[in-house]
Amino acid sequence: MHAELRWLNRFAALGPRYFTELPSEPLPSPHWVAVSPACAAQLGWPADWWQGSQALAAFSGGAPWPGMRPLASVYSGHQFGVWAGQLGDGRALLLGEVDAPAGPQEIQLKGSGLTPYSRMGDGRAVLRSSVREFLCSEAMHALGIPTTRALCITGSALPVRREELETAAVVTRVAPSFLRFGHFEHFTHTAADPAALRALADAAIEAHFPALTGRTDRVTALLEEVARRTARLVAQWQCVGFCHGVMNTDNMSLLGLTIDYGPFGFMDAFDPGHICNHSDPQGRYAYARQPQVAFWNLHALAHALLPLVAEELGTGLGGRDDEAVQQRALAALEPYKAEFADAMLGGLRAKLGLAEARDGDRELCDDLLRRMAADHTDFTITFRRLAQFSSEPQAAHDAVRDLFIDRPAFDAWAARYAERLRAEGRPDGVRAAAMNRVNPKFVLRNHLAETAIRRAREGDFSEVRRLLALLERPFDEQPGNQADAGLPPDWASRLEVSCSS
Ligand code: AMP
Ligand code: MG
Repeated sequence: MHAELRWLNRFAALGPRYFTELPSEPLPSPHWVAVSPACAAQLGWPADWWQGSQALAAFSGGAPWPGMRPLASVYSGHQFGVWAGQLGDGRALLLGEVDAPAGPQEIQLKGSGLTPYSRMGDGRAVLRSSVREFLCSEAMHALGIPTTRALCITGSALPVRREELETAAVVTRVAPSFLRFGHFEHFTHTAADPAALRALADAAIEAHFPALTGRTDRVTALLEEVARRTARLVAQWQCVGFCHGVMNTDNMSLLGLTIDYGPFGFMDAFDPGHICNHSDPQGRYAYARQPQVAFWNLHALAHALLPLVAEELGTGLGGRDDEAVQQRALAALEPYKAEFADAMLGGLRAKLGLAEARDGDRELCDDLLRRMAADHTDFTITFRRLAQFSSEPQAAHDAVRDLFIDRPAFDAWAARYAERLRAEGRPDGVRAAAMNRVNPKFVLRNHLAETAIRRAREGDFSEVRRLLALLERPFDEQPGNQADAGLPPDWASRLEVSCSS
């Protein structure tokens, strides 16, 4: 099969300022852990692609297929709000860009060995974090949330030291582009190479924002578009209770994709201050802060693009026009605010099953979230059960009501909600069906991933594969899998997820 693939490798064509070409370091005696048929389908590959000769070798870092051109890209970034200087693909390797029915897709190994950008790291990824990234990438896609995809995981007995001794794995990721905000920061702040910055921006626009190609204001238009996509992405995260955990500028996708799954988490009990990353004691990346942090990151991107914005204004930087250049860049980020507010309100309305937009909707949604936070109700279960809410005047709402501690407060809210539903007049059954298409029954809760990881470490990958199949249909009832939709067990509260992966 791989002999027929057509490789475009447009990033590689940009030239050596942007990357280092190097071979991957093979995993010794590799084995398959899991493959995603849905991701393969997106590439237009047959379901049995992985059984072909040389597939295991290629996706465990052994031998690339003809046409692949492995390289590690260089980027920089702000980590936890602080300029970190040069970073780069320290353990990732872009194998190439392949022509696919869904449009060209880049294929990247993660955990395939040392690169010139590995800094203190070992270039490896452990099985634990690889399983988490693999499952969550595919789960997010199934939830309708833009994300990098995961094609497969290969594993090995190769020992890798983290807090304890673990074993190595390689995840294969797929995306139209792995460009990060940090790629642009690099050529402005680290390399100070405006020509390289210009060429990168133009290449990105041509490949991924073709409608902007040739426009004289294409850089500010790009900023606006990235701001809008990022706003919609974060609103979608908020609406499923997803915390990214490490929203550094090097982990922000230019295409508005969820990228770099590390210490992420889906919230169980709703808590706006929830911090999913054990390595973030200050809570910079807490759930409720994600929208602001994304905006902060967009400012970092805008700052990196200032030399190009100056060009658009027909001026340079470092002179009396700096103020105007900055204003222009800031103005390009402005759409973020309305886009996020609209996406968030639209998302919440859909979660509550409100088909029409009416005054007071935001307050109705926020009041429910406040009640949920006060009583620590489970985020996913609360919204899923809300579909069973009856708009009849005297109806009991036990399925949802039972989740709350302060029942009188819930009843007061429920009365307003029922009235709002009656005002709209949509039949309950129609509303319930619509709600069940936006409020997932199944998300990748930490304890589900943890159970799969424990088994995988013992060489049993069946739970990884079962969860993949489960999470590919997050909105379906799947009555046989009821336990996966339930409250987390007590031991889940002791799970700690950190940056160490
Ligand atoms: P992260 O915040 O996990 O996205 O990683 C930040 C930077 O550290 C990136 O440049 C990664 O490539 C690099 N990095 C993280 N873990 C490793 C590792 N085990 N080996 C080499 N580089 C790493
Ligand atoms: Mg990263």
